[in-house]
Amino acid sequence: MAGQHFLFVPGPTNVPARVLRAMAVPMEDHRSPTFPQLTLEVLAGLKKVFKTQHSYPIIFPSSGTGCWEAALTNTLNQGDKVLVSRFGQFSHLWADMCVRLGFNTHILEVEWGEGAPVDRYRAALSEDKHHEIKAVLVCHNETATGVASDIKAIRQVMDELNHPALLMVDAVSSLGSLDFQMDAWGVDVCVSGSQKGLMLPAGMGVTCVSQKAIEASKTSTYPRCYFDYQDMLNNNAKGYFPYTPSIPMLYGLRESLKIIEEEGLDNILARHERLAKGVRAAVIEGWKLSLCASAPQWYSNSVSAIRVPEGVDAVKVIARAYQRYQLSLGAGLARLSGKVFRIGHLGDLNELMLMGAIAGAEMAMIDEGVKVEHGSGVAAAMKVWQS
Ligand SMILES: *Cc1c(COP(=O)(O)O)cnc(C)c1O
Repeated sequence: MAGQHFLFVPGPTNVPARVLRAMAVPMEDHRSPTFPQLTLEVLAGLKKVFKTQHSYPIIFPSSGTGCWEAALTNTLNQGDKVLVSRFGQFSHLWADMCVRLGFNTHILEVEWGEGAPVDRYRAALSEDKHHEIKAVLVCHNETATGVASDIKAIRQVMDELNHPALLMVDAVSSLGSLDFQMDAWGVDVCVSGSQKGLMLPAGMGVTCVSQKAIEASKTSTYPRCYFDYQDMLNNNAKGYFPYTPSIPMLYGLRESLKIIEEEGLDNILARHERLAKGVRAAVIEGWKLSLCASAPQWYSNSVSAIRVPEGVDAVKVIARAYQRYQLSLGAGLARLSGKVFRIGHLGDLNELMLMGAIAGAEMAMIDEGVKVEHGSGVAAAMKVWQS
């Protein structure tokens, strides 16, 4: 088909041409004397994105899921108690991983459409007089439902209760798109990946570990090898890796960090907020539909999950958008299948690119019999972006 494809799933996101070009490199010796320049430059750049001075960014040739596993197996012991909340497919998968890896997993079940329940974390932690809970897990941005949670508030609860558990945060679809502050929020392990806000191809797990998490890893006896933090940190200190890193991805990361530096991280966050407001206006004021996020406090600035009316199959809207308009919309995951479609609005994008997604979703919905006024979503988004 002629023309470009519109990729609007909430990851993988559009990779800027500059990053693609930077990745077209010949292979080189990753043990050469000059290789550390690259490693040390990207690790220093990542520290700024995580907003940390005291923690250590780590890159694994995996995806975000590998970093979930690394967080647990490096810092905990077999059978340790972990506290996690579940309100969408991604928070579900991390909780499920805890169970499958043999941790004593205490799950706070939350309605899909809401975010991390601060008061219930408080209740569970204050009941835990003997500090059996070793890790508190939170999904910062639930990509399945388009819900963002308040990580700072969870840290405050832990501080008020003087609870020594590690705070582990999934920021796969928030790092570089929503405000995330490793140091200020006292996060011990942040888990992320390359293919969302960092604007890189899929295939790199990006994580960050605090001094406290590193201390915990020294006494943890949970079996691990490939994902061992200490092997990585020992090698990284000299600019090397314990095994062959993805060399093109490191060059791509160096370029994407430059792009982030040029626009400015805080400007990027403001852009994500502005773009998200346009999408939400299209959904709510234009199309008269509702978001999966059940209240404004949960709205995510990187992804919106849009409920289709009763009797409409969102799977058909997504298929129509793909086949007729070359537009990839995000599917409804697990229990949301058929009920929602998602628009990813994170990474390298601007108003007119997003207009393509809004117009395409609008046409696909009308084709599938949704009662939506032609141009209504586009008009609502325009008004926001021009005001
Ligand atoms: C995409 C995503 C993941 C999974 O990351 P992979 O890179 O696919 O392993 C985990 N958590 C959230 C919130 C995500 O959006």
